[in-house]
Order: sequence, then C-alpha cells, then structure tokens
Amino acid sequence: MIRVTVWNEYEQDRNNEKAKAVYPKGIHNCIADFLRSDDIEVRTATLLDPECGLTQEVLDNTDVLIWWAHIRHGDVPDEIAKRVQESVLKGMGIIFLHSAHHSKPFQLLMGTTCHLCWREDDELERVWVVSPGHPIAAGLGRYFEIPEEEMYGEPFGIPEPDKLVFLGWYEGGEAFRAGCCWRRENGKVFYFQPGHETNPTYHIKEVQQVIRNAVYWCKSDYRAKELTGPHVERIQ
Ligand code: ZN
Repeated sequence: MIRVTVWNEYEQDRNNEKAKAVYPKGIHNCIADFLRSDDIEVRTATLLDPECGLTQEVLDNTDVLIWWAHIRHGDVPDEIAKRVQESVLKGMGIIFLHSAHHSKPFQLLMGTTCHLCWREDDELERVWVVSPGHPIAAGLGRYFEIPEEEMYGEPFGIPEPDKLVFLGWYEGGEAFRAGCCWRRENGKVFYFQPGHETNPTYHIKEVQQVIRNAVYWCKSDYRAKELTGPHVERIQ
C-alpha cells in the first residue's frame, strides 16, 4: 500500500467562483478521488489545518506528498517547509503541481529561483512525451492534449533535471519543461506543470495517469531515520 498525502492551500478553489465550479470539492479532493485505489491510500491536508496538516507524524507516515499551491505560498511557515524538505531528503517522494513551482518546499529542494514566465489565456497545450521509456510516461502515446491551460514558459529557473519526461508546447508558441525529475539525497521529486485552477485539467484522464505513474515512481522503500551521520571509529 502506498500512503499518499495530497496537500492543497485550498484558497481559490474555496473562494473563487470559477475555480469552485471546476473543483467543487477542492483540487485536493479531486486528486485524492482519482488516485484512491487498491494499492494507493490517500489522505488530504490543507493550509486550514493546524500545522498545515503536516505534522512530523503525518510526514513520517507519508510515502508520497503531492503539493498544489498558488497565492498563499508565504503563509506556509518556514519550519513546516523545512520539515517537508527534510522528509524528502530522508526518502519521502514529492510531486509539485503547476504553481507549486514557487512554493517554499520546492524552492528549498531546488535551491534556485524557480521563476518562469506565464500567460493566462486558456490556450491549447500539447504535452509531448520526450522519455517514452520512463515509468511516469507509462501508458501514454507520443503526446496528449489539454484543450485549455495556463501557459508557463522558459526560461524556468530550475537546476538541470535528472530526467525530462514531458515537454509542453502551447498554441501561443512557447515551449516549457513540463515534467521534470530529480533525486534529492534519498528522495525523489517530480514537477508537473499542468493544473491551472480555473481549467478542468485534473479531470483529464492522461493527466490523472501521469500523476498516478508519478506516485509509483516517487515512492521509495528506504527512509533514513536521521540526516546527521555519527562520529565513528576506524575499522580495525
Ligand atoms: Zn495557474
């Protein structure tokens, strides 16, 4: 059983009429509903919960954390962002979706600005599979399309991904590294660009497939107990 926690700041999909119409139960519950299966156990947490719902106990019992956020990154306390970062370094998997590129945990794990350029214009996005043999691309064709999505464009201020799985193309002309993998110490990190709050992106079956595949890929069988190494005597 893979234990997944879906975290959402739960702001626009709670207060903005257009986003609420697309995700009446919130983005976190939409994702939780399509992931929940015989081998994936899902819980959700939001900014409204005490400690953002991310106590050490929750993180210690999470194999893969999924993070959606947009306008309230600054309201996640630094100590909680650090707790998430350290859990990843110990071996927890993490998936950052869409505007989570500016979240504190993503920036801590990347160590760079994570800036990008953007345009909110409901454009067609064609998501190209550039690594068809990668587990996160399993079951997909050469590409899939998202009829309306926010454009995210290069340059994207990230360290070079260990593996680029998807490249997004938009009808407005831009291209973007839409699916990127990294390893950070014992943990795996996946960033996936689609998922603007007023577009029904998480209802698209290929998008759901990518997130499901990423859960399997991000899960590690190893979790370090501590990040500090002890002083040791030499072996005789
Ligand atoms: Zn957006």
